[in-house]
Amino acid sequence: MFTRRDFLKTAGVAAAGSTTLAGLSACATVGGTSRGHVVIVGGGYGGATTAKYLRMWSNGTVDVTLIERNPTFVSCPISNLVIGGLKQMEDITVSYDNLKSKWGVKLITDEVTAVDTAKRTVTTAKNGTVGYDRLVLSPGIDFIPNAVAGLDGNEERIPHAWKAGPQTVVLRKQLQDMADGGVFALHIPKVPYRCPPGPYERACVVANYLRQAKPKSKVLVLDANGEIQSKKALFTKAFESYKGMIEYVPNSELRGVDAASRTAELEFDKIKADVLNVIPPMRAGNIALKAGLPLINDRWVDVDWLTLEAKGVPGVHVLGDALFPAPTMPKSGHMANQHGKVAAAAILNLFEGLAPNPTPVVMNTCYSFVDSKNVIHVASVHQYDAEKKQPMPVQGAGGVSMAANELEGKAALAWAKNIWADMLA
Ligand SMILES: Cc1cc2nc3c(=O)[nH]c(=O)nc-3n(C[C@H](O)[C@H](O)[C@H](O)COP(=O)(O)OP(=O)(O)OC[C@H]3O[C@@H](n4cnc5c(N)ncnc54)[C@H](O)[C@@H]3O)c2cc1C
Repeated sequence: MFTRRDFLKTAGVAAAGSTTLAGLSACATVGGTSRGHVVIVGGGYGGATTAKYLRMWSNGTVDVTLIERNPTFVSCPISNLVIGGLKQMEDITVSYDNLKSKWGVKLITDEVTAVDTAKRTVTTAKNGTVGYDRLVLSPGIDFIPNAVAGLDGNEERIPHAWKAGPQTVVLRKQLQDMADGGVFALHIPKVPYRCPPGPYERACVVANYLRQAKPKSKVLVLDANGEIQSKKALFTKAFESYKGMIEYVPNSELRGVDAASRTAELEFDKIKADVLNVIPPMRAGNIALKAGLPLINDRWVDVDWLTLEAKGVPGVHVLGDALFPAPTMPKSGHMANQHGKVAAAAILNLFEGLAPNPTPVVMNTCYSFVDSKNVIHVASVHQYDAEKKQPMPVQGAGGVSMAANELEGKAALAWAKNIWADMLA
């Protein structure tokens, strides 16, 4: 049986910053012959972690097929630094090669277009249909079409860069091309959205770049929420350190955009920007909708938190940003990585006919750069509560930085390297 002790031994790996192969020899041996086939859709923070840990914890006795549309992993964490000119795309790009060659994951680079939960098959655009015993969906987010009038189809002109990749490059280029004295306007949707501190970090690193390269420019933070959503006191202080450059405007719900003039149409105001970066309202990745999973608020998947199986859809596990979040649980890469480990452990037990761990604990740390070196963090621990049937924040665990500091700048970069290794090395 895969025990709570075994899980905790490895679940903390990314947080502890240790991802050496020594962990392998300590991992649980779950048995002898092949027990089944798990298909995973999405090779991001949740899916790649699940793929590796299923193979590692089963000593290769579970077959794992990972289907991911992109040929390489590109990380959203640290991608704000690419926009701010502090990192390059290659710094946030990691190969899937080790998952294949070292861990024996079968990787299919393709788009999953349909899921048949009755027949237990997924259909891909180019590689036909693949059967599964258990399916893991970790598709991240997709944007709600037409939530912002005028935005659909104009993403090149008004990029979101909320999925790292080509959009990150587009936004960086627009920022570079902006004249000194220009306005960079960033719109933040109402919660819940992917990465609560991410937009405020983006405002800071963009301002950090502009302060050096184009000091007469302005960063306008148009927040649909009533206040800063994460590390509020620390970001307020950071924004003050860019006095005259960053302006924070809460309760700025976006009604529409005019792509030709890059104008944001708010309820009572129209704001013309030189670079307009709109993070649209989002929901679970489209494949969760196509799979017919019941959604909360038409947006997020509800799961059994012990197995991460979608409620009412046996055999389909859903992870990461696609979930309806438990109280105070962020939509973060670190959390998706933790979900991946809970799901992998539960699947191995279920293949054995055993109950999943009844008391899983997960944790999160999110670092945010406020300039090129100084960083702040927020951390939390979430323990499954059997009465509430969901993870609840552990009072007194976690917390936030006292102040932005350079040491956490080093920790943030080490965190990224470690979690990428934890998933993919
Ligand atoms: C700017 C920014 C900064 C961030 N900073 C941090 C941070 O510092 N720390 C942190 O913990 N988190 C951070 N995050 C949040 C983090 O990126 C997400 O929470 C995390 O990526 C969620 O993991 P996931 O597995 O749910 O989705 P993803 O990592 O997005 O993975 C989903 C994968 O599924 C694939 N996919 C989807 N549908 C299909 C399909 N039909 N067929 C094939 N493939 C498919 C996608 O291509 C993608 O690779 C940040 C996010 C942003 C945007």
